[in-house]
Amino acid sequence: MNQFVPYFLGEQAAPWPRAADTQKCIRAGGKHNDLEDVGFDTYHHTFFEMLGNWSFNDYFKPEAIAWAWELLTTVWGLPKERLYATVYQPGEGDPADFDQEAYDHWKAIFEKEGLDPAIHIRSGNKKDNFWMMGDTGPCGPCSELHIDLTPAGDTKGELVNADSPYCIEIWNLVFIQFNAEPGGAFKPLKAKHVDTGMGFERVAGIIATTKNFTDYTQPPSNYNSDLFQDIFSHISNMSGRSYGATMPNNRDDLSGEELNDVIFRVLADHIRTLSFSIADGILPSNEGRNYTLRRILRRAVMFGKRIDLKPGFFTKLVDPLVDKMGGFFPELEEQRDVIRKVIASEEKAFDRTIDRGLQLLDKITYQSGGNISGEEAFELYSTYGFPFDLTQLIARERGLSIDEAGFQRCVKQHAETGRAGHVSTEISVVEEEKLHHTQFSGFNQDDLTGFNTELIGY
Ligand code: ATP
Ligand code: MG
Ligand code: MG
Ligand code: MG
Repeated sequence: MNQFVPYFLGEQAAPWPRAADTQKCIRAGGKHNDLEDVGFDTYHHTFFEMLGNWSFNDYFKPEAIAWAWELLTTVWGLPKERLYATVYQPGEGDPADFDQEAYDHWKAIFEKEGLDPAIHIRSGNKKDNFWMMGDTGPCGPCSELHIDLTPAGDTKGELVNADSPYCIEIWNLVFIQFNAEPGGAFKPLKAKHVDTGMGFERVAGIIATTKNFTDYTQPPSNYNSDLFQDIFSHISNMSGRSYGATMPNNRDDLSGEELNDVIFRVLADHIRTLSFSIADGILPSNEGRNYTLRRILRRAVMFGKRIDLKPGFFTKLVDPLVDKMGGFFPELEEQRDVIRKVIASEEKAFDRTIDRGLQLLDKITYQSGGNISGEEAFELYSTYGFPFDLTQLIARERGLSIDEAGFQRCVKQHAETGRAGHVSTEISVVEEEKLHHTQFSGFNQDDLTGFNTELIGY
C-alpha cells in the first residue's frame, strides 16, 4: 500500500476514487513475522495474497462494512451465524475513541439478520483493532471479520483472536482517518479512506475444507485449497509419502505423521515465497531481506531432508507452482528459468555443507551436555551455512539450549575483522540486471494490473 500513502495524506490527488487489488505479501521478518508459525499451523504463510478494496476520500465505514458483509454472505455464501465482527476499543492511553460508528453499522446488520449483536460484535484492543503501517504515517481503527468453524459453531465468539485453529480472521477493514506524527500525536486526516485486506488462501481454504459450507467435520486449512494441491502431489511423487492433514499437538514434540505434514506445508509455502520474490527481482543473498530469503530456502532444504527428499528436490517444485499461478502472475512465467536457476544454485550450495553441519550438530548434541555455545552456532553459520534461526529450531527439537548472546558476539567480532558475510557457501549465479524488476504500473493504466511486493520489516 506504500504507493497510496501520498493520497491518504492528501499530498497528491488519487487518480481514481476507488481500487481493488491483490497484494503480494511476505511476512517473514520485522514487525510482521509469521515464519515460525508456517507449517505448524494451517493459516499463516510467509507468502500470501491479500485481497483488498480501497477508497481514497470516497466511500467510508457504512459502505465498506455493508459490502464486506454482502460479498462474504451473499456472493460467497459464508454462513452468517458463524461470522463475528470486531470493533476498536481503546485501552488506557491508546489513540482515538471507541469506534461507535463501525459498531452501529454492524449492529444494524446483525439485527437485520436476526443475530444477537451482543454476541456477534466483539471489541478489540489496539494490537488487533488499530492499524498502523509503522510508528508514523496514515492509520486508524479497524474492524475485522472472523469465522468460527468449530463443528457445532456455537462458541459465541469466545475464540475470536484467541489463536484457535478453528476460529480465524479472514478480513481486516481499516478506516484510515489519522496520521501518526513523529512526536506521538494522532492527528485527524482531512479526508477519510478505506484499506481492506483479506487473506485469499484463508477464504479459499475455508470454502474447500467445508465443501462449500456443507461439512464442518474437519478443521479449516488453507492447504486444502487447490492452490497447494499440485505442489503436494509433487512432494508425494518425490518422497513416496502422502499428506495426512494432521495438526501438531505440541510443536516441540511432533509425532512422525505430524512432522510429515508440517514438512509438506513448509515446503509448499516456502517455494511460493522464493519463487514470487525472485520473479520480482529479489535474490537470496547475505544481507537484510535477501538473507531472509536464503534462510527460508535453507529451512525448506533442511525440512525436506527429513523426509529423505533427494538433493535438488526444492528446485523441482518451481514448475508445478508456475504452472498453477503463472496465468495470473505473468512475471512467474516470464522468469520461470531464472527462478529455477537461482533456486537450484542456492540449493546446491547448501547441499554441499548441510551434511557436515548436521554431523557437527550431532557431535555437539552428544558431547556438549545440552548446550550449543555461541562459537559453535557461529561455526555452523559461517562454515556450514546454517542460519541461526535454523540452528535454534534444531536445538529446540533436541532439547538443547543455545547461547544467542555468544553467537551475536561472534558475528560482531567477525564483522569488525572485516570478514562479515563471507560464508563459504556464498554463490551468485544471476546478475541483478538480468532480472525483471516489477514496476508499479497502476498509475498509467485504466485497470490496476501493476503489482508491488510488500516486504515488511526490512
Ligand atoms: P492474524 O491475526 O491471523 O495473524 P493479522 O491480524 O496479522 O492476522 P492483518 O495484518 O490484519 O493480519 O492482514 C489482513 C488479512 O491478511 C488477515 O485478516 C488475514 O486474512 C490475512 N493474513 C494475515 N497474515 C497472514 C499470513 N501470514 N498468511 C496468510 N494470510 C494472512
Ligand atoms: Mg498476524
Ligand atoms: Mg489479527
Ligand atoms: Mg488483522
